[in-house]
Amino acid sequence: MSTIEQNLQQVIGLISSTAHQCGRDPQEITLLAVSKTKPVTAIEAAIAAGQRAFGENYVQEGVEKIVYFQQQRITPPLSWHFIGPLQSNKSRLVAENFDWMHTLDRPQLARRLNDQRPQGLSPLNVLIQINISGEHSKSGLAPAQLGELVSQVVELPRLRLRGLMAIPAPEPDYQRQLAVFQQMAALFTDLQRQLPGIDTLSLGMTDDMPAAVVAGSTMVRIGTAIFGARNL
Ligand SMILES: *Cc1c(COP(=O)(O)O)cnc(C)c1O
Repeated sequence: MSTIEQNLQQVIGLISSTAHQCGRDPQEITLLAVSKTKPVTAIEAAIAAGQRAFGENYVQEGVEKIVYFQQQRITPPLSWHFIGPLQSNKSRLVAENFDWMHTLDRPQLARRLNDQRPQGLSPLNVLIQINISGEHSKSGLAPAQLGELVSQVVELPRLRLRGLMAIPAPEPDYQRQLAVFQQMAALFTDLQRQLPGIDTLSLGMTDDMPAAVVAGSTMVRIGTAIFGARNL
């Protein structure tokens, strides 16, 4: 068994045991393997172990991998998630190649992605990124501005709003991780009450995944625990 396969089994085991401990069904939680900076051979090892959803942060690198794996015709098919900050001038590559976009945080970017999504593809699944820790350096929308962006995004036919995403400030303490994730879960539940089709809360990375699962995450984004430390 490859190291990546062993790592994946451990991560899946931790998601499962954490879910069971808090009375959740592990099937509600999708594991997104964050493959940024990793070569296609690492992704191939994850695919061989059954992994299908991958997250990339850099547009160019992500598109190269998507094109490479399209030629391999993997079944069941892979899904590709853009999870990095996106400059508006690179929106077309995301609209034309990815299945999901996790970091939508402004109306102008939403309009561009909508206009650039090819007709032959299904609508782009989008998550609105919330700046839940309130750090001025990080991207994401202030919670108070969520309603306005939601009302604009739901009018765009080539986007399909699926939920929310956040990257909280790094915090070693479990209880504090949980408190921040619970604020996100409350926003998510509110949104679910207002709109149909809201089913995805993208929360949790290698160092805070259990707290995210306890708070209600439906999609954890794990890089280091699967692929090892990043190649810089
Ligand atoms: C890199 C990255 C991850 C994965 O982080 P790890 O700590 O390696 O699990 C998850 N989400 C986003 C947005 C990232 O940029």
